[in-house]
Amino acid sequence: MNHRQDIVSDVLVIGGGISGVLAAYWASKKAGTVTLLDAGQSVGGCVNSPSYNDFWFELGAHTCYNSYTHLLEAVRDANLEKMVMARGKASFKVLDQGKIVSIPSKLSFASLFANLPKLFFTKKDGKTVREFYSAITGKKNYDTLLTAMFNAVILQPADDFPADIFLKRRGSRDKSFPKSMSFKGGIQTLLKAFVDASGVSAHTGVKVVSVDFKDGVYEAKTEDDQVFHASKLVLATPPSITAGLVMDCFPDLAQSLSDIEEFSLKSFGFVVPKEALNWPELAGAVPLSGPYSSVVLRDVFPDEKYRSLTVHTKSASVQAEEAKAWLLKNTGLKESDLLFEIEKRHTVPSLKMGHTDRVNRIDSNLTDSLSVVGNYFYGLSLEDCAQRAKEEVLRLMKGL
Ligand SMILES: Cc1cc2nc3c(=O)[nH]c(=O)nc-3n(C[C@H](O)[C@H](O)[C@H](O)COP(=O)(O)OP(=O)(O)OC[C@H]3O[C@@H](n4cnc5c(N)ncnc54)[C@H](O)[C@@H]3O)c2cc1C
Repeated sequence: MNHRQDIVSDVLVIGGGISGVLAAYWASKKAGTVTLLDAGQSVGGCVNSPSYNDFWFELGAHTCYNSYTHLLEAVRDANLEKMVMARGKASFKVLDQGKIVSIPSKLSFASLFANLPKLFFTKKDGKTVREFYSAITGKKNYDTLLTAMFNAVILQPADDFPADIFLKRRGSRDKSFPKSMSFKGGIQTLLKAFVDASGVSAHTGVKVVSVDFKDGVYEAKTEDDQVFHASKLVLATPPSITAGLVMDCFPDLAQSLSDIEEFSLKSFGFVVPKEALNWPELAGAVPLSGPYSSVVLRDVFPDEKYRSLTVHTKSASVQAEEAKAWLLKNTGLKESDLLFEIEKRHTVPSLKMGHTDRVNRIDSNLTDSLSVVGNYFYGLSLEDCAQRAKEEVLRLMKGL
């Protein structure tokens, strides 16, 4: 039997991570009909907030700041301020051979003070993260501590990342929001709330396998044989997938997208009874070596009964049993303490020197009806995604 179904809308957005959700949200302000397609079981992508007995925690992005002004503009526009939760005081520490120790305890202050004055005449432009930060903190500090901390920030080796894109200073803060925050139910719940607030028609569990462009109309075909048509298209999938989708109709765009490298990792989440874990209250712990980049906890939003630990790997080949064994060894938890286990694979872009030229090449292949958004334009953060989404929708819809 043929299940083919043709759906027509003004704007079609492929990919329902934060980039696609916010592009769809803003497009719905002007377009009559907006359709959002995502291959996952729910919108979110790298934003994933599972829950166990109403205790939610994060398998992906966990923190937003009041410097995320584009994201917060959307929160305000959609009347979602009531979802904001200020993060508590728990902080990140170092996991050193099974012990939780402070970050300063692993710093060589002699090396730091000898090198820090270079901050005044060392520019980030044209330097990698390793070159810049080992110059201003000392090679020893970089190699023993900062390389691990930075890997934990961007979920991949940070050494070759362009220093000017990493840990950017953002121009302004919206001080009507807490300095750092999350949202009730987790950040994924916020993304679902944007979809609900917008009237966007969202289809999940829908994998797009090809895109065509004929007579001014885009046609996206899905794995289950549905066809979606629209006069404007926003592609919000990782660069390799976007390149594959447009390879036949926009080969130059596909070529420019294939210059963006990617990195895959896994995140393993565990929920334990509060009393079972004897670690102090923590936002997260960063191991200085080994196959794991960090363990992120939800202690910034303490719960009466449970604590969560999300172990992020340095490679996608790590299996659940290995991650579990490592966690039990380092925390003293017993297998019977693990009430809930879940895993997620993530793909993030691996930005390299010369990134601005790569972005300019992608942008030069876009048109009045075609946009590409994501975490590989301005940077990886949720704010970088929100900014790109807003700017591209403004361009595509010629203002809002
Ligand atoms: C573990 C982790 C922790 C992080 N922590 C933070 C943090 O605390 N703060 C912060 O600011 N940033 C954080 N980040 C970065 C940030 O979460 C991501 O950069 C951002 O969420 C990426 O959003 P995106 O929409 O651009 O891409 P993605 O989230 O990757 O979304 C792409 C979407 O495309 C869909 N898709 C793929 N192929 C298809 C197809 N063929 N058809 C249809 N749909 C398809 C996928 O299902 C996915 O939903 C973190 C990232 C990770 C991985």
